[in-house]
Amino acid sequence: MRVLLFGVDGLTFDIVNPYMERGLLPNFQRLRDGGTQGVLKSLVLPMTPPAWMSIATGLSPAKHGVYDFWEYEKTENNLQGQIVTHRKGGKAIWNILSDWGKRVLVANVPLTYPPEPVNGIMLSGYMAPDMKSGVTYPADFKDELLAAIPDYKIDIDPSISAAEKGDVFVETLDVTRTRTQMFRLMLTKPWDFLFITYVGADRIQHLRWDEIMAFHPLAVEYYQKLDEALGLALDALEKDDLLMLVSDHGFRGIHHRFYLQEYLHRQGLQRMRNTSARQRAERVYRVKKTVRKIVWGLKLQGIAHAIRRQFRSKGLMETKQEAQPVRLPDLDWANTKAWIPGYSGAIAGYANVFLDDSMTEEQIEEMVAAIREIRNPATGQPLALEIHREDTLGTGEFAPRERHLIVLAGEDITIINKLGYTSLWESVGGSMGIHHPDGVLYLYGAGVKQGETIAPTHVYDVVPTILSFMNIPLPDELEGKIINEAFERPLSQHTNAESNSVVRRKLRKLATQNT
Ligand SMILES: [Zn+2]
Repeated sequence: MRVLLFGVDGLTFDIVNPYMERGLLPNFQRLRDGGTQGVLKSLVLPMTPPAWMSIATGLSPAKHGVYDFWEYEKTENNLQGQIVTHRKGGKAIWNILSDWGKRVLVANVPLTYPPEPVNGIMLSGYMAPDMKSGVTYPADFKDELLAAIPDYKIDIDPSISAAEKGDVFVETLDVTRTRTQMFRLMLTKPWDFLFITYVGADRIQHLRWDEIMAFHPLAVEYYQKLDEALGLALDALEKDDLLMLVSDHGFRGIHHRFYLQEYLHRQGLQRMRNTSARQRAERVYRVKKTVRKIVWGLKLQGIAHAIRRQFRSKGLMETKQEAQPVRLPDLDWANTKAWIPGYSGAIAGYANVFLDDSMTEEQIEEMVAAIREIRNPATGQPLALEIHREDTLGTGEFAPRERHLIVLAGEDITIINKLGYTSLWESVGGSMGIHHPDGVLYLYGAGVKQGETIAPTHVYDVVPTILSFMNIPLPDELEGKIINEAFERPLSQHTNAESNSVVRRKLRKLATQNT
């Protein structure tokens, strides 16, 4: 009745299937032939932080409070940003299982810094500063980990992302080596629930997409290392156990960019405080045009560097970060109606547009209609695949305070939030990968159908499925459903009310025995 949850950031069937067909991934093949597969739909924001937190909690962003790497707040004259390294609310599956006395091991799951007290071990993942910080619960597990793997790494060095200071393949392979050493160490411990996450696929797919699709030898080596780790997971299973492999989002290659922030500016929805700021932005654009090739890498690097800067300014052990001004051009906030604060959307194919309170619903509708009309001049494809409002983020304590438009980019397009660009559309030289909402799901083990493909399920469905498999009552606020299609016999659903009545009956029995 144990569950091993094997997470792979950014995994897509578009890579797994052709690699499998070439016979390169024997363990993925075991998983596919002996289990059930299907698309696992990500959130409308197909981003690492909110999507992993919805996998871990079964809750919407409005309940776990994570939307991006940063959270943003508009003050009267400025926009403040603060990095996010942990969810704000909602119980994660490791909390629920710990409460039930299950032994949990949670390793390298993004957004788990600082680590939480659990009935077992937690090792923080992506967005944790580095191994100098307090990244484990219990704290002394770090000594054991570093004694066994002195060079253990949480993630790749962010400067590698600039594709200048090293090879992202080589670095990712090295991080993956230490990850699997850590996985072997974890497997020597007792567990009822083991959750480990591999993040290398996302890192190489952003920068070397075309080479991966062309079976570059180092790409082959990476997916084979991932396959080996999956083999360890499969070999660790006993006959009553379940293995679930999940990704937080899928991936795709793109060739075109649209400058939506610039578009909003041209529509008169944004004003700058002075025209020299506008001229400065245009100048920066012209300079950057000459070094276009590294701009994409720098974007990833920018995120990582901003994170490091914030940690450094507050000291590595400090977990509360102070808000810092967001580096958007100097906007005149009294005359700005719509803005995109974050540049994360560029690597994930969406824009999260914040709307000022002064905008009427009619104005918003007009804006939506106008965005729907925009087409890529190079391909004729629409810019927007889908446009959502803030209600798609759920309801709860951490629901957004302002109104939003979430624009999902269409085929072969991503959306950039920079201002000062002279043209709204731009073609990208090859080899760029961005996130896609369709991720990967495999189930394997006790009671799972063999060789089946099921209809798409959702990141919200992971927690209810695991809890039901382990006969644990489902908390009322879960958003998802049990993935019963994957099992020979539907899993029985326990409700809190049921278990409460069981507890009450037991208490009554005890009370009568005592009298
Ligand atoms: Zn990514």
